Amino acid sequence: LKIVVEKPSIPVSYGPAFEGERVRKEDTFIEFGGQKTPAFEWVRMMDVAEVEDEKVEIIGTDWRNRYEQGGRMPLGIIVKVAGKKMQKDFEPVIERQIHTFINEAEGLWHIGQRDINWIRISKKAKQAGISLEHLGLIIMSMTKARFKSIVDRVEVLLYVDEKDILTLREEARQEYRRRDLRLARLTDEEVDKFYSCLLCQSFAPKHVCVITPERPGLCGAFTWLDAKAAYEIEPTGGNQPVEKGELIDPIYGRYSGVDEYVKKHSGGQIQTINLYSIMENPMTSCGCFECIVAVTPEANGVLIVNRGYSGMTPIGMKFSTIAGMIGGGVQTPGFMGVGVNYITSRKFLKGDGGIRRIVWMPKELKERIKESFQKVAEQEGVPELFQKIADETVCEDIECLIDYLTKVGHPALEMEPIIK
Ligand code: SF4
Ligand code: ZN
Repeated sequence: LKIVVEKPSIPVSYGPAFEGERVRKEDTFIEFGGQKTPAFEWVRMMDVAEVEDEKVEIIGTDWRNRYEQGGRMPLGIIVKVAGKKMQKDFEPVIERQIHTFINEAEGLWHIGQRDINWIRISKKAKQAGISLEHLGLIIMSMTKARFKSIVDRVEVLLYVDEKDILTLREEARQEYRRRDLRLARLTDEEVDKFYSCLLCQSFAPKHVCVITPERPGLCGAFTWLDAKAAYEIEPTGGNQPVEKGELIDPIYGRYSGVDEYVKKHSGGQIQTINLYSIMENPMTSCGCFECIVAVTPEANGVLIVNRGYSGMTPIGMKFSTIAGMIGGGVQTPGFMGVGVNYITSRKFLKGDGGIRRIVWMPKELKERIKESFQKVAEQEGVPELFQKIADETVCEDIECLIDYLTKVGHPALEMEPIIK
């Protein structure tokens, strides 16, 4: 995704260099949200006639004085956008960028999203002249600059009265729920195209991520909707449409169009891939996977280890060791880099037996995916699976793992051999 460098006219410096900068409590002039005051941020697609371009409006009583006093304020951010190429599906893609837009301003800090967002303005930024209008201006001008190929008009409304915010936040929450449901229901079968990501070819020249609704990019940065939006925004960029062609194998997830695409863009090195298998022609891995799935033959299943877990795994290797073996854009049956959200997809290793194969994950990863995992496990008819998956507090070696799996009656032990 090529970034157009344009800066909002604000009295502090602006750019990616400030993205990681924190604003500590003692340096904070004023904060919004963070579960301390009601807040939300919501990008809404509207008709052109409903959006007054480049307008920033603050709606609420006595807001100038309240801002000048510092401390805390409630804040509801509504970003109205319109454009010929705009689609409802792009709303969350733009909304997620509010985080970057605000963080790139020196002395401004943003975390969270939706109705759990949290914004701070530092004392220094306030002294430099940052006002509440500037906050809206940043969002307005950066949305226009970075999404100029899909957005023609942008208007930002900042609500600061609690009463308004509570009402609008309810509306926003309904919309968040609708979006989640839509993404959760989107299947690989119903869309007419997948998308590729070739961004990692800069260091893994043969690597192609094929991104589908049910299999996000392995770095976690691209869902199918993100890739689709990125393509609309930058048609010659790193995300390209992949025609599905003919569905050759629904269980393994093999499509003729995907094969053709991957063959061409791997320079002929990869002939075929299965989207839903780790054992048979799996997708290649670059180097920036969030997690590694690794076959654990003794347990007739797989373990998953996340980047950031530095301990030992029951296959006798740490994340860093396995990562060193599988990167670079080659197919390594038995090992595969994946994005965290693929683990709770209904297509997770469908060709190899699905989530029933998972025998071990670090505790922090388990906690992170718990809720969505539970839902999938119930749908798949294994509601007790989560408890049967071991973690490092149970074991870090294979003998102990097998004992544990036997004790709890893990379904992987009863499945057909994972290595054929
Ligand atoms: Fe793109 Fe895949 Fe690299 Fe992520 S890991 S940037 S999705 S090629
Ligand atoms: Zn990568």
